[in-house]
Amino acid sequence: KVVTRFAPSPTGFLHIGGARTALFNWLFARHHGGEFRLRIEDTDRARSTDAAIAAIIDGMGWLNLSHDGEIVYQFSRAARHAEVARQLLEAGHAYRCYATPEELEALREAQRAAKQPMRYDGRWRDRTDWPNDKPYVIRLKAPRDGSVTIEDRVQGPVTVNNAELDDFVLLRSDGTPTYMLAVVVDDHDMGVTHVIRGDDHLNNAFRQLALIRALGWPEPIYAHIPLIHGSDGAKLSKRHGALGVDAYRDEMGLLPEAVENYLLRLGWGHGDEEIISREQAIGWFDLVGVGRSPSRFDIKKLENLNGHYIRAADDARLVDLIAARVAAALGRDLTEADRQLLQRTMPELKKRASNLNDLANGCLFYLRSRPIPMDEGATKLLASAAPGLLDRTRARFAEQDDWSAAALEQLARALAESEGAKLGQIAQPLRAAVTGSAQSPGLFEVLEVLGKDEVLGRISDALA
Ligand code: GLU
Repeated sequence: KVVTRFAPSPTGFLHIGGARTALFNWLFARHHGGEFRLRIEDTDRARSTDAAIAAIIDGMGWLNLSHDGEIVYQFSRAARHAEVARQLLEAGHAYRCYATPEELEALREAQRAAKQPMRYDGRWRDRTDWPNDKPYVIRLKAPRDGSVTIEDRVQGPVTVNNAELDDFVLLRSDGTPTYMLAVVVDDHDMGVTHVIRGDDHLNNAFRQLALIRALGWPEPIYAHIPLIHGSDGAKLSKRHGALGVDAYRDEMGLLPEAVENYLLRLGWGHGDEEIISREQAIGWFDLVGVGRSPSRFDIKKLENLNGHYIRAADDARLVDLIAARVAAALGRDLTEADRQLLQRTMPELKKRASNLNDLANGCLFYLRSRPIPMDEGATKLLASAAPGLLDRTRARFAEQDDWSAAALEQLARALAESEGAKLGQIAQPLRAAVTGSAQSPGLFEVLEVLGKDEVLGRISDALA
Protein backbone atom coordinates (compact mmCIF):
# COMPACT_ATOMS: atom_id res chain seq x y z
CA LYS A 1 0.00 0.00 0.00
CA VAL A 2 1.19 3.49 -0.85
CA VAL A 3 1.79 5.78 2.12
CA THR A 4 2.94 9.36 1.61
CA ARG A 5 3.40 12.14 4.10
CA PHE A 6 3.71 15.87 4.39
CA ALA A 7 6.23 16.80 7.08
CA PRO A 8 6.33 20.56 7.59
CA SER A 9 8.44 22.25 10.23
CA PRO A 10 6.09 24.62 12.08
CA THR A 11 8.43 27.58 12.05
CA GLY A 12 6.29 29.81 9.83
CA PHE A 13 3.12 29.90 7.77
CA LEU A 14 2.14 27.27 5.22
CA HIS A 15 3.77 28.82 2.16
CA ILE A 16 3.05 28.10 -1.47
CA GLY A 17 5.92 25.62 -1.86
CA GLY A 18 4.80 23.64 1.17
CA ALA A 19 1.22 23.62 -0.05
CA ARG A 20 2.35 22.20 -3.39
CA THR A 21 4.38 19.48 -1.65
CA ALA A 22 1.32 18.61 0.42
CA LEU A 23 -0.88 18.54 -2.69
CA PHE A 24 1.47 16.25 -4.63
CA ASN A 25 1.68 13.84 -1.69
CA TRP A 26 -2.07 13.93 -1.22
CA LEU A 27 -2.77 13.31 -4.92
CA PHE A 28 -0.24 10.51 -5.18
CA ALA A 29 -1.80 8.74 -2.21
CA ARG A 30 -5.35 9.23 -3.50
CA HIS A 31 -4.38 8.11 -7.00
CA HIS A 32 -3.07 4.84 -5.58
CA GLY A 33 -5.81 4.38 -3.02
CA GLY A 34 -3.18 4.76 -0.30
CA GLU A 35 -2.74 6.93 2.77
CA PHE A 36 -1.60 10.50 3.17
CA ARG A 37 -0.14 11.27 6.59
CA LEU A 38 0.68 14.56 8.27
CA ARG A 39 3.72 14.87 10.52
CA ILE A 40 4.57 18.09 12.28
CA GLU A 41 8.35 18.31 12.61
CA ASP A 42 8.44 20.34 15.79
CA THR A 43 11.82 19.24 17.10
CA ASP A 44 13.31 22.70 16.79
CA ARG A 45 11.80 23.87 20.05
CA ALA A 46 13.07 27.41 19.78
CA ARG A 47 11.52 28.08 16.37
CA SER A 48 8.38 25.91 16.41
CA THR A 49 5.20 27.70 17.41
CA ASP A 50 1.60 26.72 18.07
CA ALA A 51 0.48 29.52 15.77
CA ALA A 52 2.45 27.97 12.90
CA ILE A 53 0.98 24.54 13.61
CA ALA A 54 -2.50 26.07 13.56
CA ALA A 55 -1.74 27.90 10.30
CA ILE A 56 -0.56 24.67 8.64
CA ILE A 57 -3.62 22.72 9.72
CA ASP A 58 -5.91 25.60 8.78
CA GLY A 59 -4.29 25.99 5.35
CA MET A 60 -4.55 22.29 4.58
CA GLY A 61 -8.17 22.34 5.68
CA TRP A 62 -8.87 25.27 3.37
CA LEU A 63 -7.24 23.44 0.46
CA ASN A 64 -9.23 20.39 1.45
CA LEU A 65 -6.17 18.16 1.76
CA SER A 66 -7.45 15.72 4.33
CA HIS A 67 -4.87 13.54 6.01
CA ASP A 68 -5.33 9.98 7.17
CA GLY A 69 -4.79 8.88 10.73
CA GLU A 70 -3.65 11.01 13.61
CA ILE A 71 -1.24 13.88 13.18
CA VAL A 72 2.23 12.76 14.31
CA TYR A 73 4.12 15.31 16.39
CA GLN A 74 7.77 14.52 15.97
CA PHE A 75 8.95 15.96 19.29
CA SER A 76 6.68 13.61 21.23
CA ARG A 77 8.57 10.67 19.73
CA ALA A 78 12.01 11.65 21.05
CA ALA A 79 12.25 8.59 23.31
CA ARG A 80 11.64 6.28 20.37
CA HIS A 81 14.31 8.08 18.33
CA ALA A 82 16.82 7.69 21.15
CA GLU A 83 15.96 4.01 21.44
CA VAL A 84 16.81 3.45 17.77
CA ALA A 85 20.12 5.27 18.19
CA ARG A 86 20.97 2.97 21.10
CA GLN A 87 20.04 -0.10 19.05
CA LEU A 88 22.43 1.01 16.33
CA LEU A 89 25.11 1.51 18.95
CA GLU A 90 24.65 -2.01 20.28
CA ALA A 91 24.67 -3.47 16.79
CA GLY A 92 27.97 -1.73 16.01
CA HIS A 93 26.45 0.54 13.32
CA ALA A 94 26.97 3.62 15.43
CA TYR A 95 29.53 4.75 17.94
CA ARG A 96 30.13 7.11 20.82
CA CYS A 97 31.99 10.27 19.97
CA TYR A 98 33.54 12.26 22.81
CA ALA A 99 35.02 15.04 20.69
CA THR A 100 34.45 18.35 22.43
CA PRO A 101 32.99 21.40 20.65
CA GLU A 102 36.42 23.08 20.88
CA GLU A 103 38.08 20.09 19.27
CA LEU A 104 35.56 20.04 16.44
CA GLU A 105 35.94 23.77 15.92
CA ALA A 106 39.71 23.32 15.64
CA LEU A 107 39.15 20.53 13.10
CA ARG A 108 36.87 22.76 11.03
CA GLU A 109 39.41 25.57 11.24
CA ALA A 110 42.17 23.33 9.95
CA GLN A 111 39.99 22.05 7.10
CA ARG A 112 39.01 25.58 6.20
CA ALA A 113 42.67 26.66 6.13
CA ALA A 114 43.58 23.67 3.95
CA LYS A 115 40.59 24.43 1.71
CA GLN A 116 39.22 20.96 2.37
CA PRO A 117 35.57 20.17 2.67
CA MET A 118 34.48 20.42 6.27
CA ARG A 119 33.45 17.11 7.70
CA TYR A 120 33.97 15.05 10.82
CA ASP A 121 37.04 12.86 10.48
CA GLY A 122 35.81 9.77 12.34
CA ARG A 123 38.34 10.14 15.16
CA TRP A 124 36.19 8.14 17.61
CA ARG A 125 34.97 5.59 15.06
CA ASP A 126 37.15 2.71 16.22
CA ARG A 127 37.99 3.75 19.77
CA THR A 128 36.75 1.93 22.84
CA ASP A 129 38.70 3.82 25.50
CA TRP A 130 35.58 5.75 26.50
CA PRO A 131 36.11 8.21 29.33
CA ASN A 132 33.62 7.86 32.16
CA ASP A 133 31.26 10.71 33.04
CA LYS A 134 31.99 12.67 29.89
CA PRO A 135 29.23 13.73 27.52
CA TYR A 136 29.16 12.03 24.14
CA VAL A 137 27.10 12.04 20.98
CA ILE A 138 26.13 8.98 18.97
CA ARG A 139 27.29 8.98 15.37
CA LEU A 140 26.43 6.69 12.49
CA LYS A 141 29.25 4.44 11.34
CA ALA A 142 28.67 5.30 7.71
CA PRO A 143 30.21 3.28 4.88
CA ARG A 144 33.47 4.81 3.67
CA ASP A 145 33.99 3.05 0.37
CA GLY A 146 31.87 2.85 -2.72
CA SER A 147 28.96 5.06 -3.50
CA VAL A 148 25.21 5.39 -2.99
CA THR A 149 22.78 5.86 -5.82
CA ILE A 150 19.26 7.08 -5.34
CA GLU A 151 16.84 6.18 -8.12
CA ASP A 152 14.92 9.38 -7.70
CA ARG A 153 11.59 9.38 -9.51
CA VAL A 154 11.96 13.00 -10.53
CA GLN A 155 15.71 13.63 -10.64
CA GLY A 156 16.63 10.26 -12.11
CA PRO A 157 19.59 8.31 -10.70
CA VAL A 158 21.76 10.49 -8.45
CA THR A 159 25.03 9.18 -7.06
CA VAL A 160 27.29 10.30 -4.28
CA ASN A 161 30.60 8.81 -3.15
CA ASN A 162 30.46 7.57 0.41
CA ALA A 163 33.77 9.32 1.02
CA GLU A 164 31.86 12.59 0.76
CA LEU A 165 29.44 11.70 3.54
CA ASP A 166 30.64 11.84 7.11
CA ASP A 167 29.64 10.03 10.27
CA PHE A 168 26.82 12.37 11.15
CA VAL A 169 25.30 12.72 14.60
CA LEU A 170 22.18 10.72 15.44
CA LEU A 171 21.78 11.56 19.11
CA ARG A 172 23.08 14.70 20.78
CA SER A 173 24.87 14.63 24.09
CA ASP A 174 21.70 15.79 25.85
CA GLY A 175 19.93 12.71 24.49
CA THR A 176 17.84 14.56 21.89
CA PRO A 177 17.66 13.17 18.35
CA THR A 178 18.90 15.00 15.29
CA TYR A 179 16.58 15.82 12.44
CA MET A 180 18.22 13.11 10.29
CA LEU A 181 17.46 10.38 12.80
CA ALA A 182 13.94 11.59 13.57
CA VAL A 183 12.87 11.67 9.90
CA VAL A 184 14.12 8.17 9.20
CA VAL A 185 12.56 6.63 12.29
CA ASP A 186 9.24 8.40 11.81
CA ASP A 187 8.98 7.56 8.12
CA HIS A 188 9.65 3.93 8.97
CA ASP A 189 7.24 3.75 11.88
CA MET A 190 4.52 5.47 9.84
CA GLY A 191 5.02 3.00 7.01
CA VAL A 192 5.91 5.71 4.51
CA THR A 193 6.59 4.16 1.09
CA HIS A 194 7.12 7.33 -0.98
CA VAL A 195 9.01 10.41 0.15
CA ILE A 196 7.91 13.30 -2.07
CA ARG A 197 9.47 16.62 -1.04
CA GLY A 198 11.44 19.65 -2.20
CA ASP A 199 14.78 18.99 -3.86
CA ASP A 200 16.48 21.03 -1.13
CA HIS A 201 16.30 17.74 0.78
CA LEU A 202 18.13 15.66 -1.82
CA ASN A 203 21.44 15.92 0.04
CA ASN A 204 19.77 14.69 3.20
CA ALA A 205 18.40 11.69 1.32
CA PHE A 206 21.88 10.17 0.92
CA ARG A 207 22.49 10.33 4.65
CA GLN A 208 19.01 9.09 5.43
CA LEU A 209 19.50 6.16 3.08
CA ALA A 210 22.79 5.22 4.79
CA LEU A 211 20.93 5.20 8.08
CA ILE A 212 18.05 3.14 6.69
CA ARG A 213 20.50 0.59 5.34
CA ALA A 214 22.32 0.35 8.67
CA LEU A 215 18.95 -0.38 10.26
CA GLY A 216 18.05 -2.92 7.58
CA TRP A 217 14.72 -1.20 7.02
CA PRO A 218 12.84 -1.09 3.72
CA GLU A 219 13.93 1.81 1.54
CA PRO A 220 11.30 4.33 0.51
CA ILE A 221 10.99 5.58 -3.04
CA TYR A 222 12.25 9.14 -3.33
CA ALA A 223 10.87 11.93 -5.50
CA HIS A 224 12.55 15.31 -5.01
CA ILE A 225 10.57 18.03 -6.72
CA PRO A 226 12.24 21.22 -7.96
CA LEU A 227 11.62 24.31 -5.89
CA ILE A 228 9.38 27.12 -7.03
CA HIS A 229 11.08 30.23 -8.33
CA GLY A 230 9.76 33.73 -8.85
CA SER A 231 8.78 35.02 -12.30
CA ASP A 232 12.30 36.46 -12.63
CA GLY A 233 13.91 33.08 -12.01
CA ALA A 234 15.23 33.98 -8.56
CA LYS A 235 14.41 31.89 -5.53
CA LEU A 236 10.84 32.57 -4.47
CA SER A 237 10.55 35.24 -1.82
CA LYS A 238 7.89 37.45 -0.32
CA ARG A 239 8.45 39.96 -3.08
CA HIS A 240 7.18 37.36 -5.62
CA GLY A 241 4.03 36.64 -3.69
CA ALA A 242 5.46 33.85 -1.54
CA LEU A 243 2.87 34.40 1.12
CA GLY A 244 1.12 32.04 3.46
CA VAL A 245 -1.91 30.35 1.96
CA ASP A 246 -4.02 32.35 4.42
CA ALA A 247 -3.02 35.49 2.51
CA TYR A 248 -4.21 33.92 -0.74
CA ARG A 249 -7.54 33.34 0.90
CA ASP A 250 -7.96 36.47 3.02
CA GLU A 251 -6.01 39.21 1.27
CA MET A 252 -6.13 38.12 -2.35
CA GLY A 253 -9.59 36.56 -2.22
CA LEU A 254 -8.73 33.38 -4.11
CA LEU A 255 -10.77 30.19 -4.18
CA PRO A 256 -9.11 27.01 -2.88
CA GLU A 257 -9.91 25.08 -6.06
CA ALA A 258 -8.13 27.76 -8.11
CA VAL A 259 -5.04 27.64 -5.88
CA GLU A 260 -5.11 23.85 -6.06
CA ASN A 261 -5.36 23.84 -9.86
CA TYR A 262 -2.58 26.39 -10.08
CA LEU A 263 -0.26 24.49 -7.72
CA LEU A 264 -0.93 21.30 -9.60
CA ARG A 265 0.16 22.86 -12.88
CA LEU A 266 3.21 24.32 -11.19
CA GLY A 267 5.74 21.60 -11.90
CA TRP A 268 3.35 18.93 -13.15
CA GLY A 269 1.52 18.60 -16.41
CA HIS A 270 -0.93 16.41 -18.27
CA GLY A 271 -0.69 17.35 -21.92
CA ASP A 272 -1.93 20.87 -22.47
CA GLU A 273 -4.71 20.74 -19.92
CA GLU A 274 -4.95 23.99 -17.96
CA ILE A 275 -8.22 23.51 -16.10
CA ILE A 276 -8.03 20.28 -14.18
CA SER A 277 -10.69 19.19 -11.73
CA ARG A 278 -9.83 17.40 -8.54
CA GLU A 279 -11.28 14.15 -9.85
CA GLN A 280 -9.20 14.40 -13.02
CA ALA A 281 -6.11 15.23 -10.98
CA ILE A 282 -6.60 12.14 -8.82
CA GLY A 283 -7.03 10.05 -11.93
CA TRP A 284 -4.03 11.47 -13.76
CA PHE A 285 -1.45 12.36 -11.15
CA ASP A 286 1.86 10.56 -11.37
CA LEU A 287 5.52 11.33 -10.71
CA VAL A 288 6.47 10.95 -14.37
CA GLY A 289 4.70 14.21 -15.15
CA VAL A 290 6.76 16.18 -12.63
CA GLY A 291 9.31 18.33 -14.46
CA ARG A 292 12.98 18.56 -13.51
CA SER A 293 13.47 22.29 -13.84
CA PRO A 294 12.27 24.82 -11.28
CA SER A 295 8.79 26.15 -11.90
CA ARG A 296 8.08 29.85 -12.08
CA PHE A 297 5.42 31.35 -9.94
CA ASP A 298 3.14 33.58 -12.01
CA ILE A 299 0.60 35.51 -10.01
CA LYS A 300 -1.24 36.67 -13.17
CA LYS A 301 -1.87 33.08 -14.22
CA LEU A 302 -3.14 32.31 -10.76
CA GLU A 303 -5.56 35.25 -10.91
CA ASN A 304 -6.80 34.21 -14.35
CA LEU A 305 -7.46 30.71 -13.12
CA ASN A 306 -9.25 32.16 -10.14
CA GLY A 307 -11.52 34.15 -12.44
CA HIS A 308 -12.40 30.93 -14.19
CA TYR A 309 -13.31 29.24 -10.92
CA ILE A 310 -15.32 32.24 -9.75
CA ARG A 311 -17.44 32.04 -12.89
CA ALA A 312 -17.90 28.32 -12.29
CA ALA A 313 -18.81 28.75 -8.61
CA ASP A 314 -22.29 28.55 -7.16
CA ASP A 315 -23.81 32.00 -6.48
CA ALA A 316 -24.95 31.22 -2.94
CA ARG A 317 -21.44 30.03 -2.07
CA LEU A 318 -19.93 33.20 -3.48
CA VAL A 319 -22.27 35.30 -1.35
CA ASP A 320 -21.16 33.35 1.73
CA LEU A 321 -17.53 33.90 0.79
CA ILE A 322 -17.85 37.66 0.32
CA ALA A 323 -20.32 38.32 3.15
CA ALA A 324 -17.70 39.28 5.74
CA ARG A 325 -15.91 41.59 3.30
CA VAL A 326 -19.15 43.29 2.30
CA ALA A 327 -20.31 43.67 5.90
CA ALA A 328 -16.97 45.21 6.87
CA ALA A 329 -17.15 47.72 4.02
CA LEU A 330 -20.73 48.67 4.85
CA GLY A 331 -20.07 48.78 8.58
CA ARG A 332 -23.11 46.64 9.35
CA ASP A 333 -24.23 43.02 9.34
CA LEU A 334 -25.98 41.62 6.30
CA THR A 335 -29.67 40.78 6.51
CA GLU A 336 -31.29 37.84 4.81
CA ALA A 337 -32.76 40.26 2.25
CA ASP A 338 -29.27 41.64 1.56
CA ARG A 339 -28.00 38.14 0.91
CA GLN A 340 -30.83 37.38 -1.45
CA LEU A 341 -30.22 40.57 -3.33
CA LEU A 342 -26.49 39.81 -3.56
CA GLN A 343 -27.22 36.38 -4.91
CA ARG A 344 -29.14 37.96 -7.79
CA THR A 345 -26.18 40.22 -8.56
CA MET A 346 -23.61 37.43 -8.78
CA PRO A 347 -24.27 36.20 -12.36
CA GLU A 348 -23.48 39.64 -13.79
CA LEU A 349 -20.67 40.51 -11.36
CA LYS A 350 -18.74 37.29 -11.68
CA LYS A 351 -18.38 37.74 -15.43
CA ARG A 352 -15.64 40.26 -14.78
CA ALA A 353 -14.31 39.41 -11.31
CA SER A 354 -10.96 37.73 -10.88
CA ASN A 355 -11.10 37.46 -7.11
CA LEU A 356 -13.46 37.81 -4.16
CA ASN A 357 -12.36 41.38 -3.50
CA ASP A 358 -13.54 42.36 -6.99
CA LEU A 359 -16.87 40.70 -6.29
CA ALA A 360 -17.27 42.29 -2.87
CA ASN A 361 -16.34 45.75 -4.11
CA GLY A 362 -18.48 45.35 -7.19
CA CYS A 363 -21.66 44.60 -5.26
CA LEU A 364 -21.32 47.27 -2.57
CA PHE A 365 -23.31 49.92 -4.42
CA TYR A 366 -26.40 47.71 -4.32
CA LEU A 367 -26.46 47.71 -0.54
CA ARG A 368 -25.38 51.26 0.26
CA SER A 369 -27.95 53.49 1.86
CA ARG A 370 -28.98 56.66 0.13
CA PRO A 371 -27.52 58.98 -0.74
CA ILE A 372 -24.87 56.69 -2.19
CA PRO A 373 -21.33 57.99 -2.62
CA MET A 374 -20.35 59.15 -6.12
CA ASP A 375 -16.87 58.51 -7.45
CA GLU A 376 -15.02 60.92 -9.70
CA GLY A 377 -16.16 59.32 -12.94
CA ALA A 378 -19.81 59.43 -11.88
CA THR A 379 -19.57 63.05 -10.75
CA LYS A 380 -18.12 64.02 -14.14
CA LEU A 381 -20.77 62.10 -16.04
CA LEU A 382 -23.57 63.78 -14.13
CA ALA A 383 -22.02 67.22 -14.54
CA SER A 384 -21.69 66.81 -18.31
CA ALA A 385 -25.15 65.29 -18.92
CA ALA A 386 -27.60 67.19 -21.11
CA PRO A 387 -29.62 69.53 -18.87
CA GLY A 388 -33.01 68.20 -17.86
CA LEU A 389 -32.52 64.81 -19.48
CA LEU A 390 -32.09 62.89 -16.22
CA ASP A 391 -35.21 64.68 -14.88
CA ARG A 392 -37.24 63.56 -17.84
CA THR A 393 -35.79 60.04 -17.56
CA ARG A 394 -36.92 59.89 -13.96
CA ALA A 395 -40.41 61.04 -14.89
CA ARG A 396 -40.76 58.32 -17.53
CA PHE A 397 -39.44 55.66 -15.18
CA ALA A 398 -41.85 56.77 -12.48
CA GLU A 399 -44.77 55.85 -14.74
CA GLN A 400 -43.35 52.40 -15.54
CA ASP A 401 -44.97 49.31 -13.99
CA ASP A 402 -43.14 46.44 -15.66
CA TRP A 403 -39.76 46.62 -13.87
CA SER A 404 -37.97 43.86 -15.75
CA ALA A 405 -34.60 44.59 -17.31
CA ALA A 406 -35.98 44.01 -20.81
CA ALA A 407 -38.91 46.40 -20.36
CA LEU A 408 -36.66 49.06 -18.85
CA GLU A 409 -34.29 48.82 -21.75
CA GLN A 410 -37.17 49.26 -24.19
CA LEU A 411 -38.33 52.26 -22.25
CA ALA A 412 -34.87 53.84 -22.34
CA ARG A 413 -34.61 53.24 -26.09
CA ALA A 414 -38.01 54.79 -26.71
CA LEU A 415 -37.03 57.77 -24.62
CA ALA A 416 -33.76 58.19 -26.52
CA GLU A 417 -35.71 58.12 -29.76
CA SER A 418 -38.20 60.76 -28.68
CA GLU A 419 -35.35 62.93 -27.34
CA GLY A 420 -33.34 62.51 -30.52
CA ALA A 421 -30.49 61.30 -28.31
CA LYS A 422 -28.23 58.24 -28.28
CA LEU A 423 -29.01 55.52 -25.74
CA GLY A 424 -25.70 56.26 -24.05
CA GLN A 425 -26.75 59.83 -23.32
CA ILE A 426 -29.63 58.44 -21.27
CA ALA A 427 -27.86 55.41 -19.89
CA GLN A 428 -24.60 56.98 -18.71
CA PRO A 429 -26.00 59.60 -16.29
CA LEU A 430 -28.55 57.03 -15.14
CA ARG A 431 -25.77 54.56 -14.40
CA ALA A 432 -23.84 57.21 -12.51
CA ALA A 433 -26.90 58.13 -10.45
CA VAL A 434 -27.83 54.59 -9.41
CA THR A 435 -24.37 52.99 -9.04
CA GLY A 436 -22.19 55.97 -8.08
CA SER A 437 -19.70 54.92 -10.75
CA ALA A 438 -19.11 55.17 -14.49
CA GLN A 439 -18.68 51.39 -14.76
CA SER A 440 -21.11 48.76 -13.59
CA PRO A 441 -22.63 45.47 -14.58
CA GLY A 442 -25.39 45.65 -17.20
CA LEU A 443 -27.41 48.77 -16.35
CA PHE A 444 -30.88 47.37 -16.88
CA GLU A 445 -30.15 44.28 -14.75
CA VAL A 446 -28.92 46.65 -12.06
CA LEU A 447 -32.17 48.65 -12.25
CA GLU A 448 -34.25 45.50 -12.03
CA VAL A 449 -32.38 44.22 -8.99
CA LEU A 450 -32.49 47.57 -7.17
CA GLY A 451 -36.25 47.94 -7.65
CA LYS A 452 -38.32 50.91 -8.64
CA ASP A 453 -38.42 52.87 -5.37
CA GLU A 454 -34.70 52.67 -4.83
CA VAL A 455 -33.92 53.66 -8.43
CA LEU A 456 -36.23 56.69 -8.35
CA GLY A 457 -34.81 57.69 -4.97
CA ARG A 458 -31.23 57.48 -6.19
CA ILE A 459 -32.04 59.56 -9.26
CA SER A 460 -33.63 62.19 -7.01
CA ASP A 461 -30.51 62.23 -4.84
CA ALA A 462 -28.36 62.80 -7.92
CA LEU A 463 -30.59 65.60 -9.10
CA ALA A 464 -30.71 67.30 -5.73
N1 GLU B 1 10.52 19.26 7.88
C1 GLU B 1 11.13 19.41 6.59
C2 GLU B 1 10.78 20.74 6.01
O1 GLU B 1 9.81 21.36 6.42
C3 GLU B 1 10.69 18.35 5.62
C4 GLU B 1 11.36 17.05 5.84
C5 GLU B 1 11.02 15.98 4.87
O2 GLU B 1 10.06 16.13 4.09
O3 GLU B 1 11.67 14.93 4.91
O4 GLU B 1 11.45 21.22 5.11
